[in-house]
Amino acid sequence: MSDTVMADGIEVAQEPDAEIPILFLHGVERTYRQGDEALHILNGAELAIWPGQSVALVAPSGAGKSTLLHIAGLLEHPDHGDVFIDGRATAILPDAERTRIRRNEIGFVYQSHHLLPEFTALENVLLPQMIAGLTRSEAKKRAVELLSYLGLSDRLTHRPAELSGGEQQRVAIARAVANAPRILLADEPTGNLDLHTADHVFAALTQLVRASGLATIIATHNMELASRMDRRVTLREGLVVELE
Ligand code: ADP
Repeated sequence: MSDTVMADGIEVAQEPDAEIPILFLHGVERTYRQGDEALHILNGAELAIWPGQSVALVAPSGAGKSTLLHIAGLLEHPDHGDVFIDGRATAILPDAERTRIRRNEIGFVYQSHHLLPEFTALENVLLPQMIAGLTRSEAKKRAVELLSYLGLSDRLTHRPAELSGGEQQRVAIARAVANAPRILLADEPTGNLDLHTADHVFAALTQLVRASGLATIIATHNMELASRMDRRVTLREGLVVELE
C-alpha cells in the first residue's frame, strides 16, 4: 500500500519501498568455456534499477547483453554474485521459487515474437494469465485492454501469421506484461523490424512502460531509440558502465 505525503503543498504518492531497487545485479560473474578457452563475459557487473525506470543496454554483439538479461530474469544462474528482486536475494532460492518470481514479477520480449502460431493475438495474451490462475473472462478483459492500448483492437482474432512484424511484436509486448510484472526485460525487441516500424513499436513499448510504472531494460543497437530511455548503460570488460 502506498502512503500519501505532502511535498511543497503537492500531494504525491510515496511507495514505501522506493528506496530499494526493484532489480539489483550485484557482483555478477559469468564465464563460458569454449574448449580450453574461458570467456569472461560478466566480471563483477553491478546494476541497480528503480521502479518506473527505463534503461537502454547498448553494446556490440557478443558483449554479453543476452547473458545479462538472462541472469537478471532468473533464467540463468551467475557463477558468482546475486540478483536481488525487490531487495530479495535469489541465488539461494529453490528453482520453484525462482520460477514463481520470474512468472509473477518479470516479463520478457525477444527479438523474435515467439507467439504460439495456432492461437489468435487475444489467446496469446490470455493464456499466460489463465496459467497464472485468472478466469477466462478476467484474462480476456485485461488482454483486450492491453491489445487495444497497443493499437491492436481490430487484430484480436488474427493469428500471428496474419499480422505484420510490428503487430506481432506489439502482441508479444502485451503478452509479456499480461501478468502485470514489475520488471520488463527486452532483448533487441525491434531488431527484426524496419526503422519506421521499429520506431512505432518502441514508442508503444515506452508509453506502456511509463504508464504502468514498470522497470525495464531494453537491449538495443539503436542509439536514437536508446536516447529516449531514462538511462543508457553499456558493457565494458564484463562491467556495466553508465553512458553520458
Ligand atoms: P550479446 O547478447 O551482447 O550479443 P551474448 O550474451 O549472447 O552477447 O554472448 C556473449 C558471448 O558469450 C558471445 O561471445 C557468445 O558466443 C558467448 N556465449 C553465450 N552463451 C554461451 C554459451 N552457452 N556457451 C558458450 N559461449 C556462450
